[in-house]
Formats: sequence, structure tokens, C-alpha cells
Amino acid sequence: MPNEPKHTPTPWHIRSYTNYKGFSIWEERGSKCVCERWDNLEGQQEINKANAEFIVRAVNSHQALLDACRQIANGPFSHDCPHCHKTDRYQVASEGIKFEHHKEDCPVRIAMTAIRLAEGKEVSADE
Ligand SMILES: [Zn+2]
Repeated sequence: MPNEPKHTPTPWHIRSYTNYKGFSIWEERGSKCVCERWDNLEGQQEINKANAEFIVRAVNSHQALLDACRQIANGPFSHDCPHCHKTDRYQVASEGIKFEHHKEDCPVRIAMTAIRLAEGKEVSADE
């Protein structure tokens, strides 16, 4: 996207501190720290580690998951949906593919929702 803010290149990875309790997240080459967190409170170390691992997994898989969702949302099933069996071809042709053309539990609609969330957009059926 042209207006998407630049972020530190991926993949990211975790480093554990050896001299105190904490974690940091670094870009691939290891020259730029993305963020760090340390805390000596009992029990917080495990939470911080789990959070750092979750952040790194989410960031490193973001583009692949977004690409997969775009393939589903823009693929052949978006217009001829085997799940919904009645995607309105006329509406799709005149208005583009919308949430309303697919049932709530339809994989195409779920992919469209995931794309909106990944792009930081509102998730609403009436856009
Ligand atoms: Zn559908």
C-alpha cells in the first residue's frame, strides 16, 4: 500500500537478556532493536516471553497470511461462492465484492474480514 507506514524489515526475532530479566525483539540482521521489555515481578517474565513470541510470530506471518486471504477474497470463489451458493453476480459486477454477498461463516467473508483487520480498517457489513 502506498501510504502504509514503513516499519522495521521482517523477519524479526527474540533475544533474551542474560544480565537481567527481559526480552527484546530485533530485525533480521540484528542491528536494530524493535522493542524491549524487562520486568522483575514474579510471574511477569513468562508473560513477557509469551508476548514477545506472539508478537514475532504475528509479524513474521503477517504478509503470508494477508496474501493467502487476498487469494481467497479475490479468487474464483469470491464471485461464484460454493459456500453461499447464491452470490449475486449482478451486484458483485456493479458494486464490487462486499461482505453482504457472503454468509457470516463463509471463508471468503472471513478472509475479507481478516484483510480489513490486518489493514487497520473498521470491520462492518455496510461499507
Ligand atoms: Zn460466500
